[in-house]
Amino acid sequence: MTPPSDIVLAADAAPSVAAPTVLLSDRLREPWQIALSQAVRTRSELLSLLNLENHERVPPPRVARDFPLLVPRSYVHRIRPGDPDDPLFRQVWAAASEDSSVNGFTEDAVGDEAARLGPGILQKYRGRALLVTTGACAIHCRYCFRRHYPYSEEPRQLADWEPALQLLAADPTIMEVLLSGGDPLTIPDRRLSELLDRLDAIPHLQRVRIHTRLPVVLPERVTTALIDRLVSGRLQPVVVIHANHSQELQFDAADAIRRLSQPVTVLNQAVLLRGVNDSVEALVELSERLMSLRVLPYYLHQLDRVTGAAEFEVPVEVGKELISELHRRLPGYLVPRYVQEVPGAPHKVPISLAVSSLSDDTP
Ligand SMILES: *Cc1c(COP(=O)(O)O)cnc(C)c1O
Ligand code: SF4
Repeated sequence: MTPPSDIVLAADAAPSVAAPTVLLSDRLREPWQIALSQAVRTRSELLSLLNLENHERVPPPRVARDFPLLVPRSYVHRIRPGDPDDPLFRQVWAAASEDSSVNGFTEDAVGDEAARLGPGILQKYRGRALLVTTGACAIHCRYCFRRHYPYSEEPRQLADWEPALQLLAADPTIMEVLLSGGDPLTIPDRRLSELLDRLDAIPHLQRVRIHTRLPVVLPERVTTALIDRLVSGRLQPVVVIHANHSQELQFDAADAIRRLSQPVTVLNQAVLLRGVNDSVEALVELSERLMSLRVLPYYLHQLDRVTGAAEFEVPVEVGKELISELHRRLPGYLVPRYVQEVPGAPHKVPISLAVSSLSDDTP
């Protein structure tokens, strides 16, 4: 995963030649692109912004090379300073343990390779196909299940999408197309709109579902132009945000999500993460905060066992107990479905609760 290739960073660009300035200002038209270019990229800057000067700043070597730190400033503002156990800080901070290999954790934990229909297109489930639209993200989450995905082999230009679009057009059983990545909303409006236009023109498609963490981590991205484009297309838009903790849903992120969820169906998908949201309180607050922003909890994912993410794993038995407790405390529609991705299975697999957990029914 790399920063978007067409967002050249003003700060990183070689300062020696004068000419690029014009090009840069031309390319960095949008405030959200500028915000992304100004994201925090070094461990030492993040530590000093958070008053954590005594924290270990040397990254594990493999991490520094393959999946470096990336945190937008808006997200940094939602981290509690001085607290190395902050649930948002934990999601972006590479621990030394990331570099050690753990039994059962692999690079392609979810069977993406076997589900690849063609360049940039995966199909695992009936009626739905997924486009890997970009390798770029606005944040680097340490538990990411696609952190080892071979993005460099996937399409970049609209022309490269032809094979995937033809596969979609040729299969009338596909009703919903998912845009995933990376993060599809790192794609600039013009290119995103071109792709949506092409999808609008495939008659059997009914919905476009966008899986994105940008409304949470880079709320500047939720522009009026983006919302207008989503609601004005033929396809019914569904946006699945990926929030893991209620503390992420504050300030500008809350405003952005509220604006988005007025005209668009917005759902949330979280990953159950040790030290982030593995408590009843955290999950209740997350559901309540989402609902206050008109977002329904959809899935709570068991962690995919991807190399480097082992320290975030919560045992399934603990997850089941948490879900049982959520059922006791919340209306049913605020309890996310606890699921696991099993390579080769025909759908995301619900993790069912033991009947014994139903015996104690005191409110
Ligand atoms: C998760 C996933 C989907 C969507 O599954 P839903 O259960 O409909 O949310 C579709 N395609 C692929 C390849 C996926 O990994
Ligand atoms: S979890 Fe999502 S937003 Fe985070 S790095 Fe992975 S793909 Fe990007």
